[in-house]
Amino acid sequence: MNLKEKIEALRQQLHKHNHDYYVKDAATISDFEFDGLLKELQQLEEAHPEFNDPNSPTQRVGGGLTKNFETIAHEHRMYSLDNSYSKEDLLDWETRLKKMVDGPISFTCELKYDGASISLTYKNGKLLRAVTRGDGFQGDNVTTNIKTIKSVPLTLSGDYPESFDIRGEIVLPLDGFNAMNAAREEAGEELYRNPRNTASGSLKLQDSSEVANRPLECLLYALVGSSLGVETQYESLEKARSWGFKVPDKAGLVKSIDAVFEFVNYWDVHRHDLPYETDGVVIKVNNLQQQEELGYTAKAPRWAMAYKFKAEQASSVLNEITYQVGRTGAITPVANLSPVELAGTTVKRASLHNADQIKKLDIREGDTVYVEKGGEIIPKIVGVNLLLRPNSSEPTKYIVQCPECHTSLVRKQDEAQHYCPNYAGCFPQIVGRIQHFISRKAMDIDGLGGETVALLVREGLINNYADLYELTLEHIIPLERMAEKSAQNMVAGIENSKQIAFERVLFALGIRYVGETVAKKIVRHYKTIDAIATATQEDLEQVEEIGVRIAQSVREFFNDIASQELIRRLKNYGVQLEISAQQMADQTNLLQGEIFVVSGVFHQVSRTELKKLIEDNGGKVSSSISARTSFVIAGDKMGPSKRAKAEALGVTITDEDSFLSRIAK
Ligand code: AMP
Ligand code: ZN
Repeated sequence: MNLKEKIEALRQQLHKHNHDYYVKDAATISDFEFDGLLKELQQLEEAHPEFNDPNSPTQRVGGGLTKNFETIAHEHRMYSLDNSYSKEDLLDWETRLKKMVDGPISFTCELKYDGASISLTYKNGKLLRAVTRGDGFQGDNVTTNIKTIKSVPLTLSGDYPESFDIRGEIVLPLDGFNAMNAAREEAGEELYRNPRNTASGSLKLQDSSEVANRPLECLLYALVGSSLGVETQYESLEKARSWGFKVPDKAGLVKSIDAVFEFVNYWDVHRHDLPYETDGVVIKVNNLQQQEELGYTAKAPRWAMAYKFKAEQASSVLNEITYQVGRTGAITPVANLSPVELAGTTVKRASLHNADQIKKLDIREGDTVYVEKGGEIIPKIVGVNLLLRPNSSEPTKYIVQCPECHTSLVRKQDEAQHYCPNYAGCFPQIVGRIQHFISRKAMDIDGLGGETVALLVREGLINNYADLYELTLEHIIPLERMAEKSAQNMVAGIENSKQIAFERVLFALGIRYVGETVAKKIVRHYKTIDAIATATQEDLEQVEEIGVRIAQSVREFFNDIASQELIRRLKNYGVQLEISAQQMADQTNLLQGEIFVVSGVFHQVSRTELKKLIEDNGGKVSSSISARTSFVIAGDKMGPSKRAKAEALGVTITDEDSFLSRIAK
């Protein structure tokens, strides 16, 4: 086997494993073996750019940046769907159909996936392009991002047509959505509202490696084009599946509206067992010949109809509004309801979001309210049944003091949430911050759990995370239910955390908006806690991806005398508050003050490595060319508009080789 064949064989193998895992949900090799093959391919491709393939499985990891998404006209318009809400609506539709076509009509029933619609174009079995629906006539070219979605086949197998479009929906399964929100919660960031908006927002992210990290899926439902080699909708679903697409196997082929309704009723209940959200059923005339005869209205096909599920809703009495205090001091109002069945679970509590929401819906204690379950983790209240409002009812007065420490609440401009400003003395904030500090992604302290932290605070043994390093066996053993062995583990775990790398320590400090990624960026830029502590707001904002909001929050933290004292103590205990000698050795000031823009495809190092090299050597990476740009490092396929802009501004364009040899010196 020559090198080219070897690369091709690896690609085929990886495509197949991808398909087994992400489309068929049946892995045939371990993640470890998969990563091994992928790495091997990556290395071969980097060493042999002449065998470059835009549809190689290595493209899945992302890395491509899109500043402005190109507008592309759809060759075939992407129509909307007409909606129906009752069996009568469907029977009326059938009557209209029968007037327009001859012979019996059968229907394909499919679930209506709730996400963002997408049109994929394939030529000769390769993904050529992915375009959003846009206004139906034209959409945005989001190919780079779509390639990172593992269930989108980059190459097809079987008897696929030479050229066709396929339409589908990009969805974010609930598990993945909840995991993303759990991570945001930990970073003290605002949660995503629902899977659908998050899925459609993902398509327009500028950094495709960020899209690669999101657990998105692509579910397909329609072939578009001529000479497709199929005669019915149902057959086209089966064909598409055989070519490698993820086509859910829930579709039904039926001969009457009665049977359509059985399908609807079944899925109205069982949709809650699916891993992703659906908001209805789409019913399509099965025969493509009949579809053609029926044609389109100005807005939608006559041959298809959406049936919308009624939102899963229940009504119940709101007994009391209580308020929770998070680790950042954010107040969340919670509705405590008389228990009610909703979508298979008993609901007792629902989110009220914030004061504005309560005011907008005029929600009051004693009201009978409507509760809905969407993609949100906990159900929400969507309205009040005013007919059942008691005479004695009074408008809700939002609390003005913290329910835990009675400090007056504050509300920042442009923020919906109220906060308890008693950073140092409010119990849930104190406990929450220490719990965050010890958590797995932060200091990862073994032998100490969240409950124990609360106990230690209650007993007055600790009041902040620096106090952890003063704990001794004599302190802990007398505590209730604390065995000697557990106490030893706890002290050892705390001791070991002194080895944790600085970037994780910075994350552990619990500075608002400083999540894992931001902490890494700040550490790479400033290297020591002292440098961060003395950086001005303007200076902080210059760091890649650090905006006003984060910079402000960092300044607030370090301006606070109590934080300064904590840092001083952590330093004394030997916690890592600067990057290690090894990390430092990799870093120079060679490129100090220089701003780079990286564009195109590189061969010796990946784009990510190139950026790391720039940053390690003290340079800055920017995503767009301006008069301040020092150099553009151009790879293959650098966009012509970028080149023109660089030339117009007189910015020097250099290449990968020259850059690498410069820093090698
Ligand atoms: P609407 O946005 O309410 O007009 O509904 C039309 C949208 O439903 C289409 O643009 C598709 O994105 C989406 N959809 C979801 N599942 C299906 C399906 N099985 N067949 C057709 N369209 C679907
Ligand atoms: Zn408080």
